[in-house]
Amino acid sequence: MTLTRTARALAALALAALLATASAACGKEGSPPVKGPRAGQLPRYRVAEGFRLPDSPTWNRAKRRGHLVVGAKEDQPYMGEKDPATGRYSGFDIEIARMTAASLGFDPAGTEFRTIASANRETALQNGQIDYYVGTYTINDNRKKLVGFAGPYYLAGQSLLVRAGDDDIRGPRDLAGKRVCSAAGSTPFQRMEADHPEADLVAYDTYSVCVDNLLTYQVDAVTTDDTILMGYAAKVPDELKVVGEPFSEEPYGIGVPRPDDALRFAVDDAVEAHGRNGDWKRAYDATLGLSGVPAPEPPAVDRYPAS
Ligand code: GLU
Repeated sequence: MTLTRTARALAALALAALLATASAACGKEGSPPVKGPRAGQLPRYRVAEGFRLPDSPTWNRAKRRGHLVVGAKEDQPYMGEKDPATGRYSGFDIEIARMTAASLGFDPAGTEFRTIASANRETALQNGQIDYYVGTYTINDNRKKLVGFAGPYYLAGQSLLVRAGDDDIRGPRDLAGKRVCSAAGSTPFQRMEADHPEADLVAYDTYSVCVDNLLTYQVDAVTTDDTILMGYAAKVPDELKVVGEPFSEEPYGIGVPRPDDALRFAVDDAVEAHGRNGDWKRAYDATLGLSGVPAPEPPAVDRYPAS
């Protein structure tokens, strides 16, 4: 990198403006985003009348409150994205949260979403800040010691995002001495640390900060799930590209408070039912499917024994 500080600052400003234009175009009333979720095509979920889950402390608390509070991401296009103008959340994860809410007897439109970063998910579930979490959350044994997981509802894989003009990085083997960015507390960050110590790894709270740093030449690659990276690349296809084959398995679960097995099993039932009745596919097609990848079959739910 031979850019002077001023040239870099200018490049940063120009690219930040570019990204802002791209997202502003996506939020305009009456002009649906070119590649964003299409509200009119989203399924409507039937609210389960008279549903009760008396054994679930989380469900009882939500019932008293009158609505569910769900943790999510707000800066992951196609998966979980918050429109800064309206405050509305959209994406495949958000639809999974809404269909689940309907199965638990709540009006999905009343769901209150709270943005929680990757590193804070377990704490948010443990201290009751949220009822459950839907946000590109990989199920694994370490996390299962702290929280419960319903699902999986989708199978993602770790991949790499680079600048469109970069032909040096084609896969994880090309990362020696490269600045690679990921989110603190995420499985892709942990995998980089363990398997690719030759890379120069940096962490931020969110992937969108990593992407800003990629566009402004502060880092050379961003690594996380393909689902998330495809969304960023779709926003500025002339600037960014996803390279190589996915190099991990990231089964997405719905995080629930660990002791609340009644809630976990009810959410498992919900995921299965919406997979069977076609809601899952309709939600996928209207959100993540806009990235161009046709809907896979929903994965089988892993209903592991009560804790
Ligand atoms: N699925 C990975 C994880 O749960 C990466 C995406 C994220 O950070 O949400 O850590």
